[in-house]
Amino acid sequence: MIRAPLTVNGRRYAWPRQPLVVVCIDGCEPEYFARATAAGAMPWLAAALTGGTDRTADSVIPSFTNPNNLSIVTGTPPAVHGICGNYFYDREAGAEVMMNDPKYLRCETIQAAFARAGARVAVITAKDKLRRLLGHGMRGICFSAEKAGETTPAEHGIADVLGLVGLPAPSVYSADLSEFVFAAGVKLMESARPDIMYLSTTDYVQHKHAPGTGAANAFYRMMDGYFSKLDALGATLAITADHGMNAKTDAGGRPSVIYLQDLLDGWLGAGRARVILPITDPYVVHHGALGSFATVYLPEAINARAVTARMGALTGMELALEREEACRRFQLPPDRMGDVVAISERHTVIGTSAARHDLSRLDAPLRSHGGLTEQHVPLVLNRPTPGLPAAARLRNFDIFDVALNQAQ
Ligand SMILES: [Zn+2]
Repeated sequence: MIRAPLTVNGRRYAWPRQPLVVVCIDGCEPEYFARATAAGAMPWLAAALTGGTDRTADSVIPSFTNPNNLSIVTGTPPAVHGICGNYFYDREAGAEVMMNDPKYLRCETIQAAFARAGARVAVITAKDKLRRLLGHGMRGICFSAEKAGETTPAEHGIADVLGLVGLPAPSVYSADLSEFVFAAGVKLMESARPDIMYLSTTDYVQHKHAPGTGAANAFYRMMDGYFSKLDALGATLAITADHGMNAKTDAGGRPSVIYLQDLLDGWLGAGRARVILPITDPYVVHHGALGSFATVYLPEAINARAVTARMGALTGMELALEREEACRRFQLPPDRMGDVVAISERHTVIGTSAARHDLSRLDAPLRSHGGLTEQHVPLVLNRPTPGLPAAARLRNFDIFDVALNQAQ
């Protein structure tokens, strides 16, 4: 049934004419697609792109998972939805806290609005940390692969996901976690056939394996097989990513880290500044909580301009901006950012104190994200979008607009 367009967070969305599947491939540097298609590992994608839409888009900064997933499902930047990291310093509470509670979300999701208007919607995430944010206020199916064995109709809109999918519950540190998302998506499309489905994977593979490697190509081959099945079921597929991924190592393969808390302790006195790394989450084994973005809270007596300039001049630092300028440039919520925002270069990450990062647990050379150099991501559809201006700068959070309003 075709209904009138919906306005969600100030943007207008047409009702889907076929089932729409929006996929967020966590950590999908565009090079992964390029190398996998060149190697023949993604035959469906290669064919789909010739008759469909093959674009790149910019993610939001920080180029981390939660801010971008929430931007994609709300169609807005973090200044509007409020989720600017996995982790932040809550000034009101005076504490460093995880930001995965829906109480931090400041607007509605597109799926929730469509569900309220009568659409059947489903959201499947790899890690459970995103589930409650993505499913907030939404009537429909919403579960994670991580906790697929625990679904109930009351909490997740579906019982016995393991029985539906026919796969064992996957380990949280595995490529299988993402495969489960797609396998479940195909089963749902065959059964409940949602009008709108959002699938979000984990970047476990991309943190370990560079584009074009055997493991990376195998992972992309796996995804291509599921894309092909969803396509055959008549879905419009719209695929993007939350961020890219780069090696963050020196010539010797060692992590290239600016330990910003140690430096600030030396400049200002121990513990006077507070460095927050919004990449911090409970799943740090594959990145050691090291990314290319940090925000810094300074003591009141300190001149932020001078410290910002000093941080920006550090070797390996791409940019340091005072809060106001950073929030304007990157559309961030000022009340959830520190006095300074710091972004490191392509092959460098920012840490707090050397003593607080256990690099011995990294089982592969460090690859991570968070900065401007991980902002470019694919934006592809299996449908043409002739009305989309070729020169337009697309954001990954335009994907629902492109899929619902432009795709033919
Ligand atoms: Zn991610």
